Amino acid sequence: MILPKANRLSAGQLTEIMQIVEGFGCRIQPIVGAVRSIYAIVGDERDELMIDRLEGLSYIDRVDRIQSPHKLMDRRSDLATHLIALGGVTLGKELLIIAGQCTIDPKNPQLFYETAQAVKEAGAHVLRGGVWKPRTNPYAFQGDVKSLDILLEAHRRTGLPVDAEVMDEQQLKLALDAGVHMLQIGARNALNYSLLRAVGRAVAERNTVVLLKRSLHMGPLNEFISAAEYIVSFGNPNILLCPRGTAPTLDGYRNHPDESITPLLKEKTWAPVVVDPSHSVGKAAYVPACALAAVAYGADGLCIEAHVSPSQGIGDDPKQALTPDALAETIHQAKQIWTLRHPVKVP
Ligand code: PEP
Ligand code: MN
Repeated sequence: MILPKANRLSAGQLTEIMQIVEGFGCRIQPIVGAVRSIYAIVGDERDELMIDRLEGLSYIDRVDRIQSPHKLMDRRSDLATHLIALGGVTLGKELLIIAGQCTIDPKNPQLFYETAQAVKEAGAHVLRGGVWKPRTNPYAFQGDVKSLDILLEAHRRTGLPVDAEVMDEQQLKLALDAGVHMLQIGARNALNYSLLRAVGRAVAERNTVVLLKRSLHMGPLNEFISAAEYIVSFGNPNILLCPRGTAPTLDGYRNHPDESITPLLKEKTWAPVVVDPSHSVGKAAYVPACALAAVAYGADGLCIEAHVSPSQGIGDDPKQALTPDALAETIHQAKQIWTLRHPVKVP
């Protein structure tokens, strides 16, 4: 829908916009009002270039698109009935819990094995463990490929599917070759389109699940959904959207918690939402409340950092990892809220 700055277009202006849209296989249907006229674009209006050319005209106020730019991620797409299952949970039918250490310490694999067993007993369905870490400080521990073996050994010991973040194509290949079940794309790479394409291509023929974090900056929802579209466009629709707090921070928290975007995402897309309360708030004491709020807002799952002994952890674990007891209690309460939101339907 094209909205001109003036009440209506002149004959010359109308001819100009007609010529532009015809170049993209569309036509213009003027809708003439008593005071204002607007101009509908009839046809497939998803070509960004057509919209940019129209919006570039000095006499056009804006162009509102009726069609979603997301062919696959849109709620109305055929994929809307696609079900994603992992760790014995079908998203949407039960609350999915991903839990584990921020960072695996390659010098202390035993701690990770204990964490893995503890999160399983607390009720987690998927085990997370950072192998390679995106660190702000280049001199901080960057992760270690040795941790990949530790992650997979924890999978063998517990039976839990495992999740690890990858930041480049080499890590992507190593993680997939090792058999990682869920790939995490972190907040810093959430808009790295060449990596998103590489991930989409690499998982196209597999049933790997991708956990896509929301970018660190407070971008519009469409940007988040488009990032997912990049991955899904290669053919694997197993994508989970993960709000994890954005910048600028809410004073006192690590980021600005954004679990309240879940209902907005669900209006636009069918993809399950798995909220990460740990990076949203950044302090273990605040994590449970954020997790519960996320479920109240309609999250389909939670990704929580947890450690058998946070004070012995590395990376984010000393500050924001929950102990196994706190994790178990959070999962218990989160499931209660989930049940309130999903009453059993009597036929
Ligand atoms: C993490 O999960 O440990 C992590 C680095 O997350 P994010 O990309 O959300 O910062
Ligand atoms: Mn972390």
